Amino acid sequence: MMMLNVKGIGMTSMRTRERMVGRLKEQGVNNHKILDAMRNTPRHLFVDEALASRAYEDTALPIGYNQTISQPYIVAKMTELLLASGPLAKVLEIGTGCGYQTAVLSQVVDYVYTVERIQPLQKKAKNLVWSLKHKNISYLHSDGGWGWPDHAPYDGILVTAAPPEIPEMLLRQLAVGGVMVIPIGHAGGQELQRVTRNASGFEVEILESVNFVPFLSGRE
Ligand code: SAH
Repeated sequence: MMMLNVKGIGMTSMRTRERMVGRLKEQGVNNHKILDAMRNTPRHLFVDEALASRAYEDTALPIGYNQTISQPYIVAKMTELLLASGPLAKVLEIGTGCGYQTAVLSQVVDYVYTVERIQPLQKKAKNLVWSLKHKNISYLHSDGGWGWPDHAPYDGILVTAAPPEIPEMLLRQLAVGGVMVIPIGHAGGQELQRVTRNASGFEVEILESVNFVPFLSGRE
């Protein structure tokens, strides 16, 4: 009997990814750079092998350590909100997780600085994203509540875990003219916010309801 090698076909195929991109368009994402980046990124490699067949569904999935990879719509939407006012050179991401959002981001901005508080997650993400040849990224194992002051200010800040309020250190590290996209609130009651820094202060827009894992302090 012939053995079939099914890796790379079926649920993880290019066609499945194309369907995901089609759904994102229906959901209102229309930035082509972002859609291309999501088409180009093998999301099934970022989740456990047992879940690979579900990687392109519009759902959050576990990545270990009580954390989740965000659903494709949220990844696309947050990236679109971040890029809305033009191209970005230097972006800080808090919550590397499995590195999927990092990989997408690195294809649409010049350079990404990404911070994760759980070391094994950070190491795994770094190896995988590097193996996919995305090299315009620096990684830090730290509590993202401190930001990453060495490279501040940032044109964009993207936060993928929800604190009860915007960490002050992140506001300080946002450039004038810069944009931060961040979920704010507690489990069951979070909203996505976009904060724009202008010469006189910060403007906050409240966007849609979201459901992120909590922003925690300290390192593991
Ligand atoms: N963008 C990620 C989402 C991962 S879930 C992905 O696509 O996989 C959110 C991540 O934020 C988790 O990995 C969690 O450990 C991390 N996190 C939570 N609080 C943090 C903090 N204060 N500093 C850095 N990372 C944090």
